[in-house]
Amino acid sequence: MSNRTLAVTDALYDYLLAETGREPQVMRELREETMTMPRAMMLSSPEAAQFMGLLAKLMGARRCLEIGTFTGYSALAVMLALPADARLICCDIDAEVTSVARRYWEKAGIADRIDLRIGPALETLDKLLAGGGEGSFDFSFIDADKTSYDAYYERSLKLLRKGGLILIDNVLWSGSVADPKDQSASTVALRTLNRKMRDDQRIDFSLLPIGDGISLAVKR
Ligand code: SAM
Ligand code: CA
Repeated sequence: MSNRTLAVTDALYDYLLAETGREPQVMRELREETMTMPRAMMLSSPEAAQFMGLLAKLMGARRCLEIGTFTGYSALAVMLALPADARLICCDIDAEVTSVARRYWEKAGIADRIDLRIGPALETLDKLLAGGGEGSFDFSFIDADKTSYDAYYERSLKLLRKGGLILIDNVLWSGSVADPKDQSASTVALRTLNRKMRDDQRIDFSLLPIGDGISLAVKR
């Protein structure tokens, strides 16, 4: 074995979930319901969600953003990790799937801490900026349409305070970023953003191969 990141076999992945997973009951129920819905593959993996909650807690986040909410699983992971005075603004265009999110947030007793804004995320972010939101957020999770990721990243950088954390999901895109033959719009957008972030002196940066790949950027 070399000292590269290890390949996670099915057996090792099962071990990881069974022996290190701490998924709360309400999140398990939400995950199980989401798995019966169309586009269930958009759901974050339990270990990635657990990690996100830990990061949000570690940095003492209070004002949080989520771009791409779906059935609310990642939002739940972050808000269950944070104290009662934390707030999250969720952006999504889909009122139907996010009605599932609201139901589970109610069940978890955190619905009053989440402000769900239905509409194109870019519009919501630009409204926050126009309303004086620059530099006022601690944490941003980007997980919506991949071709707009760069725009979400740039808006998030503005909205975050110095030391704030941006998490970007699916940055390895099932490995397709490393396949030069794949020139689909989403793959090219992710590949371009990954390189841009590597060279971006406005942030400290690390890409972790957890879930489908998560980038961490801390605003300098
Ligand atoms: N964060 C969720 C989780 O971990 O379970 C998954 C989010 S899912 C991958 C992406 C979501 O982005 C979908 O619910 C979709 O409706 C939303 N979306 C797509 N395009 C959008 C846009 N332009 N503005 C806001 N939301 C968008
Ligand atoms: Ca995702």
